[in-house]
Amino acid sequence: MYTSVNDGDRFVISIDNHQELVSALAAFCNDQGILAGKVDGIGAVNSATLRFLDPATKKYVDRTFDEQMEISSLVGNISEKDGKPYLHLHVNLGRRDYTVVGGHLLCCTINGACELTVTRLHCNLGRHFDEETGLNLYTL
Ligand code: FE
Repeated sequence: MYTSVNDGDRFVISIDNHQELVSALAAFCNDQGILAGKVDGIGAVNSATLRFLDPATKKYVDRTFDEQMEISSLVGNISEKDGKPYLHLHVNLGRRDYTVVGGHLLCCTINGACELTVTRLHCNLGRHFDEETGLNLYTL
């Protein structure tokens, strides 16, 4: 599913081709017991489902893009919810015509490569549901 190497609290991860990125990253965090951290990465996908939260309705709008795209920027964080790693990932995806789609990343399928770095943080980073925003906000 992935290979990785670490330099202390910094990990370099290569997710195998044709894997689903978010579940592979969750498996990595589970395997390493990472419950607080940050993520960045680049790569390429041939399908991705993005999510947009409409603040007026507090409803999510999901959209799937089935095409070859570059992960021009993936950024996110790792926290803890219900004792498990909780991933919050945002992504910009470059299309063949050099336009970009972006948003909250729900899932995507690697087609090419996916190179991530994860930095483990040594603090408690919990989450709680916030009624006003409809979001799972940090509990700090
Ligand atoms: Fe988000």
